[in-house]
Amino acid sequence: MSAAVHVTRFAPSPSGELHLGNARTALFNFLLARQTGGQFLLRIEDTDRERSKAEFVDALQRDLEWLGLTWDGAPVHQSARATIYDAAFAQLAELGRVYPCYCTAQDLEFSRRAQLASGRAPRYAGTCRLLTNERRSAHEAAGRKPGWRFQVQAGERIEFEDVVHGKQVFASEDIGDFVIRRADGTAAFFFSNAVDDAEMGITLVLRGEDHLANTPRQLMLLRALQCSVPAYAHVALINGIDGTPLSKRNGARSIAQLRDEGYLPEAINNLLFRLGHASAEGELMDLAAMTRKLDARHFGRAPARFDSIQLLSWQKQAAHGLSPARLQAWLSGVAPPLGDAVQRDAWYKAVQANTVLPRDAAVWASVLAGPAPALEEQTLQQVRAAGVGFFAAAAGAARQQGANWQSICKAAQTASGAKGAALYRPLRLALTGHEHGPELGTFLLAMAPAIIEERLQRFAI
Ligand code: GLU
Ligand code: ZN
Repeated sequence: MSAAVHVTRFAPSPSGELHLGNARTALFNFLLARQTGGQFLLRIEDTDRERSKAEFVDALQRDLEWLGLTWDGAPVHQSARATIYDAAFAQLAELGRVYPCYCTAQDLEFSRRAQLASGRAPRYAGTCRLLTNERRSAHEAAGRKPGWRFQVQAGERIEFEDVVHGKQVFASEDIGDFVIRRADGTAAFFFSNAVDDAEMGITLVLRGEDHLANTPRQLMLLRALQCSVPAYAHVALINGIDGTPLSKRNGARSIAQLRDEGYLPEAINNLLFRLGHASAEGELMDLAAMTRKLDARHFGRAPARFDSIQLLSWQKQAAHGLSPARLQAWLSGVAPPLGDAVQRDAWYKAVQANTVLPRDAAVWASVLAGPAPALEEQTLQQVRAAGVGFFAAAAGAARQQGANWQSICKAAQTASGAKGAALYRPLRLALTGHEHGPELGTFLLAMAPAIIEERLQRFAI
């Protein structure tokens, strides 16, 4: 399959936000299209008027763009394609493959329970298949609007080769007649989905394993319509670290939530690339590298596990690798007030290595711009242990040389003879209140010299 040029699609239903599961589907489809020089199309599956929301249509596109998963051409909205579905429906009607179904939700539920009670797998019982004209007229007279079902033929074998799961065989006896047109006239999911894959020239349908059982229905429709069929790849679903389906309880968050928390698109893409897709690549990759490295033979059958620790580890690599311009844009919301360009550049440079999420940089922003950090008694003792002359000399150097870490250290060392940790530790504690943190030579360049002096001077004895 790697040799073929693939036209793929991402086909979200706008009834919710982009989450890790469907973002991964989008990523793999994007990469397979790019890898083969094909096309990646976006199709909004919005025929369900009640569940589809315009705000989700916008949000899905914004989130895909943010992840860098740009699609080719204009998005296709199923809600605007009724004429295409009507034509395909008319074709099936002409073949005698559709019939109206007047069953209510209650009728269907009753039938389902009866089948389950007698140990059978529930499927549509075919109640309306052979409705007499009288019954039909009675339903119409009572004002009931029918849905329309596709008539499944007995004795059909539906086979296909799934890219992930290998050969799949279904018997048509196991599949009940299914609704392809709702009572309100809109196309139902199985129908619009299959018709559009054919109409849009999709060659490979990659989607979650939850759709594997839908495939025989879609294949029967495509067969009846004499359309060409795509290849199918059903990727394993994503579970939480506890092995249960991803949910709020085990760490699932939408892409928008992750963005709001400060996660970077590179981190999310790198995590997704490795969920259900074995990759020897341990390095952070951009989309171009992923395009080269994705290997459809490496999709796994076992459910993937989302681990927030892994996400943080990709996030750390992504944050530490940001260019100065992107770093500034990413952290601008948590930057302290900064005097000039020198201070600004120094600030971002200093905190980058200590920042995984913006909240980390916020801590250093308040260290920099807030009141002099108060020290606990135990820490205070360590600072005082620096002895007489140490801080007076350091403060003096700051007064004369400004924000110059080298000269501050040198002055304190000359005055006290302290070296190594005995020299650096009291200075760091006095200046930042923390034992560890950003590289001080750079961090101090972001600080007003008067503040440096004041923080050192307060411990002078
Ligand atoms: N709208 C369906 C979904 O979001 C699309 C399934 C498919 O990719 O065929 O699950
Ligand atoms: Zn019926």
